[in-house]
Formats: sequence, C-alpha cells, structure tokens
Amino acid sequence: MTLVARPGALTDIGLHRKTNEDTFVVAPPLFAVCDGMGGAQAGEVASGLAAETLAAAVADGRPLLAAAEQANAAVFQRANDDIGHAGMGTTLTAVVLAGDTGHFVHIGDSRAYLLRDGALEQLSDDHSLVGEMVRDGRLSEGEAASHPHRSILSRALGTEPLARIDEFEVDLRAGDVLLLCSDGLSGAVPAEAISKALGRAAPDDAAAKLIAEARKHGGPDNITVVVLRLDEPRAADEEVTLAVPADEAATVVLAAPATPPEPQSAADASAPAPSRGSKRRLGWFAAVLTLLVVVATAGALTVSTVFYVGVDDGRLAVYSGLPAALGPLQLHAVYRRSSLPYESLGPAERRLVDEQGLHTRSSIMALAETLGMWP
Ligand code: MG
Repeated sequence: MTLVARPGALTDIGLHRKTNEDTFVVAPPLFAVCDGMGGAQAGEVASGLAAETLAAAVADGRPLLAAAEQANAAVFQRANDDIGHAGMGTTLTAVVLAGDTGHFVHIGDSRAYLLRDGALEQLSDDHSLVGEMVRDGRLSEGEAASHPHRSILSRALGTEPLARIDEFEVDLRAGDVLLLCSDGLSGAVPAEAISKALGRAAPDDAAAKLIAEARKHGGPDNITVVVLRLDEPRAADEEVTLAVPADEAATVVLAAPATPPEPQSAADASAPAPSRGSKRRLGWFAAVLTLLVVVATAGALTVSTVFYVGVDDGRLAVYSGLPAALGPLQLHAVYRRSSLPYESLGPAERRLVDEQGLHTRSSIMALAETLGMWP
C-alpha cells in the first residue's frame, strides 16, 4: 500500500549559537537533515551544499545512496578547493519514501526515530566516539549523554574522499511517525519528551513542540526536526502517486537557513593557512592514500589528512601529520596554535592530549573546541 506522508519541519538556531549550521530538506519523497560543522560559516556551507546536491541528485532519479555519495564528493571537493572551508563536513540523515517502505541513508550523529504504537525506536546508529563506545559496551547510554566529548564524530560527510554511509530500509505502517533530527534535539531532550511531542496529531504542532522542548532544555545547539506522519490515503488522495498529498506539496521547501555573516575571529585570522597549492595537492593525494603525504617545498613541509592535539612551547596546538619523525624529518607541522596552556587542563583533558589520538579534520576541530582551545 502507498502511504501518505504529512510533513512538519522546523529549524531553530537555539539559545547559544551565533549561526545555524543545520539544514533540512522537504522535497517529497525525499526528506533529510544535515548538521554542518567546521567553524567560521563553513558548517552551514557544508550542510547546505550537501542538502542541495542530495536533493538535485534524487530529483534526477539517482538512488539515495548514490545521491549521498555525490553529496559527499561535492562537500569534499569544496573543502579542498577553498582554504576557507578546509575541514568542513556535515552529518546526513535522509529518507526516501516509496510505497510503504522507508529507504534511509545515514552518516554522523543526527538521528532517525520511529514512533509506533507509542514506542520510540532509534533507527540510526550514532557515528560518534561515544556512540561507538556505547555499542562496544564501554559506556552506558546515560554516561554517553553527558560525556564531555560526545560531539566528536567518528564519521561525517565531506571529510574524506569516500564516506562510509549506512543504508537501511524500514517497513512502515499507517499510524507510524518518523522523526529526523539534529543532535540539538536528541542531545538535549529526553526520549520520553520526544515521544510525547511526536504523539501530537498535526506534524507541524509536533515539530514546534520539539523545538520548544529543546529550548526549554537549554537549547545548547542548533535544533532541526523533520516529522513525518504516515497515514492511509484519504478518499481525496486516491489518485496521488507521490507519498505526499498534492494539497501539502505546495508547502515543500528546501531550507538553507539564512544567518547573518559572522566576523572571523582573531584566532582564525592568525591560523597558519597552508598555501592553496599544497591544499590542492593534498586533495589529490588524499584520494589515493587517504593517510599521509609529504610535500617537499623549499624545506621539508609535512602535510597530511590526519591531525592530533599536541603541546608547543607549553601551549596547545593542532598538528597535522603523525606525532613521529622519519630520521631527521618530522612527520608533523603545527596546523593551528592555541594560547591555552597545557598546565591549565584537568587530568581527563590532559589524558586526551597525552594519548595523541589521530583525528580527521572535522573531529580534531570538535576536540579542540571541547578542550576550549579557541576563546
Ligand atoms: Mg548539532
């Protein structure tokens, strides 16, 4: 049976962020949420570009996974072409409805939920460090919810030439409610409150209630929700072949939220930017090696697609490369300095620095933010 989906979608900047880096897509039968990251407006570029590319590819008839891979390539390309956008990435959680089946793709820590018969089920796995630890049994759900590093992603769209994107299908029934949301909702609002809000009859009301709940719980991040209520077609919908009734198709939007330009901070301005030439080479090599490249210029300059946090002259810095040397050649270079002294860190934070864990550009920036490296 072909179910009819009635959508309600909203995005909100929340109470603590200067920009909204989330984007949603309501382009039936495609619905999606993207949560961008990367500082200085790069996050909203990443989520907007991913959403546009995905929607265009699906509209062209491409299968959802292929469309998501195309979105990954578009974001990765832009990040490598433009130093201002280096390291940007985005989450993507999307569904295409066909008949009574939901085809999903998912990468990152945005979420897809299903409310059926009053029970809320999370359909997607969180691609975050704490999410992986919960699945390994090393952390409880409760510990994960308040973990200081819960924002560090283990996978994202646009940060690597090939993204590992989850794909799954769900059989849907009349009465089901689907929710796609960014972590500004799921990270702030308890499951019971999400479940209760989704129980509202009108998807628009449910979406508004979810945003209100996230703000009530502090609104620490941008909040985006796409609510889909699935029903049997009404008599008037009998001729409708799309999964959305014609009278509601007029409300379809592709939202890339407009936000005021944010002045670049002094810290950003002083960041040592690799030359354009070396970034291009990085993109090319990254596609082949994806790990480490040494570019010889006048001296020996090490460039890589891996990063770690280290200590330079007593202060924290983000390094690109490996914390090692090959004979006289250091396999790392300072990517961005912070004025934060190592001495000011607590024991848990020091351990994170001491272990010199390797990260992608997006996850190292999340870690740096967690450590408070940029004022
Ligand atoms: Mg977020």
